[in-house]
Amino acid sequence: MVSSPPSRQTAEKGTPYDIAVIGAGPGGYVAAIRAAQMGARVLVVEKDNLGGTCLNRGCIPTKAFLSDVKPFHKTRKSPLFEGNEGLSLNMEKMVARKNEAVETMVKGISTLFESNGIQWIQGVASFMDSKTVGITRRGKKETYRANNIIIGTGSRVGTIPDVTIDGRNILSSDEILDITEIPREMVIIGGGVIGVEFAAIFNGLGTTVTIVEMLPTILSTEDEEIVRALHMILEREGVTVLTNSRVTGVSPRGGKVEVRVQGKSGGNARVVAEKVLVAVGRTPQTEGLGLEAIGLRMDGPFIEVNTRMETSVDGVYAIGDVIGNIMLAHAACAEGIVAVENIMGKSRHIDYRRIPTAIYTFPEIASVGLKENEARKSGLDIRVGKFPYMYNGKAVAMGEPDGFVKIIAETELGEVLGVHILGENATDLIGECVLAMNLEASVEDLGEAVKAHPTVSEAITEAALDWSGAAIHLPSKKS
Ligand code: NAD
Repeated sequence: MVSSPPSRQTAEKGTPYDIAVIGAGPGGYVAAIRAAQMGARVLVVEKDNLGGTCLNRGCIPTKAFLSDVKPFHKTRKSPLFEGNEGLSLNMEKMVARKNEAVETMVKGISTLFESNGIQWIQGVASFMDSKTVGITRRGKKETYRANNIIIGTGSRVGTIPDVTIDGRNILSSDEILDITEIPREMVIIGGGVIGVEFAAIFNGLGTTVTIVEMLPTILSTEDEEIVRALHMILEREGVTVLTNSRVTGVSPRGGKVEVRVQGKSGGNARVVAEKVLVAVGRTPQTEGLGLEAIGLRMDGPFIEVNTRMETSVDGVYAIGDVIGNIMLAHAACAEGIVAVENIMGKSRHIDYRRIPTAIYTFPEIASVGLKENEARKSGLDIRVGKFPYMYNGKAVAMGEPDGFVKIIAETELGEVLGVHILGENATDLIGECVLAMNLEASVEDLGEAVKAHPTVSEAITEAALDWSGAAIHLPSKKS
């Protein structure tokens, strides 16, 4: 499909575009819209559908799944509903609803492009020189010139030696989105973000799930205390979590897959499962782009950029998973906006300290800023305020008492350095904490905000009050 709505910005034929964006994931499409808003003449090249991994094979499809699994799981285990043991979920319909959600979002980008006068071409782009891209579509190659080029080509599924993704029993996070039967058992290789999110989905569907993680903890980049608590919740819910354990190989076993696992002490285990999900990280996509042709400097497999998102080549910028700083959709969006605003004459730098994380498990995890051990290791004088969900009225009323809010603030002035939340709606609640940090609000400011009652957001206020020993709904620490 080629969409070529008339450009709002009229130009002589042959005049270079102001900006060409390669890749229309959350980094690229947001960059294109911001560029058009600022008056640039923009060309977007995308080899697949608009929306990239996030919309087509990542954030949106998995959130569609999680939204269906949550009421199913909750209803099935609730003592309130009679006959609920027999409740079943139609996986085919769940996949169809996910596809509808994806389609709606992809169409939305197309509409936004149209309304912003952005031209996009479905084809494969490669650099001819630093201001010229060749675009191959339907076997034909055309060249387009642009004064500035933004690379936002994202990443693809990574693999490990001795495990081949076959798309039938051994799946990646791409193929698993289209399976139409609930597997009896699943081994998930990798206890990172993708691993734990799919563990939540399939455990909720009734699959027997085993996570195999080679590091000492799952989610090794999150706050240790939060991870320990989620680990316990996962095990309580029936997920087997093997840490310090490496997958050494897989082989077919009677229509299923046998996964060989080597533990830290050298002991071996074998787990047999209907499906294996490989979730061991993602690899940046740079092949075929012709980066050598323009002499662009790499940082290992990633494109090297500075905080203005400039690469080593004048006029060429890179954003999102392909630079590998933070492989998150909202980080890519922020980087895309920084790149465009710099091209358009502003002076912007990306600040990764204020970019939150959001992990969609049951319950969710969200965080921003320093982890407790990071703050302590860097010698900062800190105090931690904490408030458990089990003392929050709304959380208890909803039957969601798991989790806590943890605020790390510097002792003297109360500057908020980090917030970590495990609990219902954590991924929405982190927004106010990001804003507080952006405004350099103190922990006392957070504690003074009057929240509507009953809301889960009161847990943030209470954690902030706990920082100075003034939380209302915690047992007194004096006794
Ligand atoms: P990841 O890097 O987060 O986790 C991969 C895990 O696999 C690591 O913990 C690693 O130690 C483990 N591992 C690697 N080889 C192994 C082996 N042989 N045996 C056992 N364990 C092994 O990668 P991911 O979970 O695949 O996610 C990819 C990227 O996508 C990440 O950057 C992630 O942040 C991003 N993502 C984010 C979200 C979100 O923010 N909600 C959701 C999905 C993906």
